[in-house]
Amino acid sequence: MTQDWTLVIHGGSGSMTRANLGPDGDAAGRAGLAAALEAGSAILRDGGSALDAVEAAVRVLEEDPHFNAGRGSVFSWDGVNELDAAIMDGRTRDAGAVTGVTTTRAPVSLARAVLADGRHVLLSGAGADGFARTAGLEQVAPDWFAIPERRRQLDEIKAGGGFDADMKYGTVGAVARDRHGHVAAATSTGGLTAKRWGRIGDTPLIGAGTYADDRAAAISCTGAGEVFIRAAAAHEIAARVRIGGALAVDAAGEVIADIGALGGKGGTIVVGSDGSGGWAFNTPAMYRAIARSGDEPRIAIYGDEE
Ligand code: ASP
Repeated sequence: MTQDWTLVIHGGSGSMTRANLGPDGDAAGRAGLAAALEAGSAILRDGGSALDAVEAAVRVLEEDPHFNAGRGSVFSWDGVNELDAAIMDGRTRDAGAVTGVTTTRAPVSLARAVLADGRHVLLSGAGADGFARTAGLEQVAPDWFAIPERRRQLDEIKAGGGFDADMKYGTVGAVARDRHGHVAAATSTGGLTAKRWGRIGDTPLIGAGTYADDRAAAISCTGAGEVFIRAAAAHEIAARVRIGGALAVDAAGEVIADIGALGGKGGTIVVGSDGSGGWAFNTPAMYRAIARSGDEPRIAIYGDEE
């Protein structure tokens, strides 16, 4: 219990500006991040595990309708909330993930149950919700996740027939290093507005949107999932740290630059096993926050807030 701890969280990257969020949206975003940061920090401060801390932080953001995860998730083309989540323990590289969940209130905790069960890594759809029931996780009616603003965004996209590339993303994630030197990562999302045909993004794919390895770093991504999958983004960051000896935050910057070169927009948060932490993004903004033992927590949204 001699080491420092670090927690970094995100609430999605996108085109948020002071003008389009307004004072209320800005305040709500910061309040959500502050609550999630404190939920995770309380665990790490007490010597708890990085795995518990990232799950706790993400659960707070899943419950907060201002973010695209759990309640407040975006709608698929068919008007359904299909939720994805993943969690990974850097100590053992055990991982759990779920995709297309529609009735489990806390998708990140379902991912954690998949990890704890250990037989599989990735469960989908009705099977994943069925596993949640056997694991005793709270079930809700599918419309519990639905909020009017997300319905409006779907209607707008369907009316225009196209995809709004400047949309706010709003996926949530957390990465942590605990006092014992272990790292963990978790990510949760509703995916992309108007997604079709059972589309799965990077979030629940281990190595794409989520990865953790004590030998390197913990990573959680947000943005254009298809490009993060093609770049194997989260694992690529970990590999640059482990094999290339890069600092986690530098590796994050390199991989986000590569994502940009492939035409992708988004961001990532990282914690190195050395306790360093930070982020990189190529969008105008990313909801983000960092807390470290002994430091004042920092919360930011816009790109000019460094
Ligand atoms: N990366 C997520 C996905 O593609 C979306 C997001 O970050 O909001 O599903």
